[in-house]
Amino acid sequence: MGGAVGLIKERGCDIAGAKLIRPHFVRERRVSSARASNATETLVGDPSLKEKNPFPGKPEADVVVIGSGIGGLCCAGLLARYQQDVLVLESHDLPGGAAHSFDIKGYKFDSGPSLFSGFQSRGLQANPLAQVLDALGESVPCVSYDSWMVYLPECEFLSRIGPTEFLKIYMFAEWYKPGCSLEYPLHGSGGVVDALVRGMRKFGGRLALGNHVDKIVVENGRATGVKLRSGQFVRAKKAVVSNASMWDTLNMLPTEVIPRSYEEGIRKTPQCDSFMHLHLGFDAQDIPEDLGIHHIVVNDWSRGVDADQNVVLISVPSVMSKDLAPPGKHVLHAYTPGTEPFGLWEGLDRRSPEYKRLKEERSEVMWNAVERALGPGFSRDRCEVRLVGTPLTHQRFLRRNRGTYGPAIQAGQATFPGHATPIPQLFCCGDSTFPGIGVPAVAASGAIVANSLVSVPEHMQLLDAVGI
Ligand SMILES: Cc1cc2nc3c(=O)[nH]c(=O)nc-3n(C[C@H](O)[C@H](O)[C@H](O)COP(=O)(O)OP(=O)(O)OC[C@H]3O[C@@H](n4cnc5c(N)ncnc54)[C@H](O)[C@@H]3O)c2cc1C
Repeated sequence: MGGAVGLIKERGCDIAGAKLIRPHFVRERRVSSARASNATETLVGDPSLKEKNPFPGKPEADVVVIGSGIGGLCCAGLLARYQQDVLVLESHDLPGGAAHSFDIKGYKFDSGPSLFSGFQSRGLQANPLAQVLDALGESVPCVSYDSWMVYLPECEFLSRIGPTEFLKIYMFAEWYKPGCSLEYPLHGSGGVVDALVRGMRKFGGRLALGNHVDKIVVENGRATGVKLRSGQFVRAKKAVVSNASMWDTLNMLPTEVIPRSYEEGIRKTPQCDSFMHLHLGFDAQDIPEDLGIHHIVVNDWSRGVDADQNVVLISVPSVMSKDLAPPGKHVLHAYTPGTEPFGLWEGLDRRSPEYKRLKEERSEVMWNAVERALGPGFSRDRCEVRLVGTPLTHQRFLRRNRGTYGPAIQAGQATFPGHATPIPQLFCCGDSTFPGIGVPAVAASGAIVANSLVSVPEHMQLLDAVGI
């Protein structure tokens, strides 16, 4: 995203038209192309997904997946579809990892992604996530839209997708091709997670929430299971798949089995920085009725778009999905996109006055951005819910080493690691693996691992059944 903004700057605001335009969204309701009959059913709010699960079934499976991020769920869902006995062990008491949703006072917050591109499984904008959903007979009801607001130091404007001048200057080149669309899932990112969980369970896959994996067990040189924090051993008859980051996966491996070159490769991989988050719930009364879902604020060109405290992304999904907030209210998530240095926060006690002071200081940039995007009708004092998240929050709730966004691997300079590891029967999926960070990419990584664990004829049969 940083590159996109940089390119806009090179061409200046003239191209977009520097006057203030409020977003005009396509308010058409649509359902993605998958064939499930239960397209409108949602597990958002399903208590079974919120309670700590007692361990479901026997403590063994063909494949044990560590983590229920989008990558882990796509892998597990497809494995279940391939009739493998699959068990997902999730440390948190909610599934979805970076894409989970959480509820407070009737507001449903997205913890992470809100830009999903499209949910089509075919064509120009084919999305691996939609292909997995198709294979599971699930779909995600979506709302389509076509624009987002951009706020620069010198101006603000509405950026529209489609074949416009932006085709030449935006890094999201795909969004500027004819026929492309943006879609937001009704019920938020949690609706996507629910569809994946539902699909996986339909084919017999199991999800055990609140089950933190302490160690990957290696016997006779092969990954044969995992040991939970509770001390319980869970046997994996065919494979263990880690959806945790490469650094967290390394920490789960017994030191004596890790080849030195593998460890060094991981330790030397540069990390993206972390996040500041601002989650707000507030009255919609004095907020413009035509407010758009997405806003990007850039404060200072001279610092560069990767600089900390310089770019803020804002998502107000309740403008599209009313059920995400109580009637007449809005739910908002603002964040600094992978630009908050973990080092500033490292070692701080979360209850200390120093931590609270730093939180206040480092969240100001997000409050200012929200005030700019929402206009004078917004008042921070009138927010019913105000939550500030720091890199420590990110690390704690998403179980991510140093709260990182993922490996800082530059396209064209290096590639993300593959999915096999030097330890037989241990595989990895998610944003530490090829093709990289982001929802479509991690869905693809999960699918690649699942497809690699079955035979080519089984894979071909599934492609035929889904019609790809
Ligand atoms: C704020 C934010 C905004 C974003 N916005 C977008 C966007 O708009 N569009 C987009 O495409 N992408 C976006 N991304 C990126 C995208 O969300 C991530 O790349 C993707 O969701 C990561 O999925 P994953 O499966 O790799 O891992 P994760 O989501 O990190 O899931 C890993 C799971 O493993 C679990 N786990 C870890 N260790 C253990 C253990 N020892 N035992 C048991 N469980 C464990 C964790 O609890 C977690 O649930 C955003 C990310 C963030 C943080």
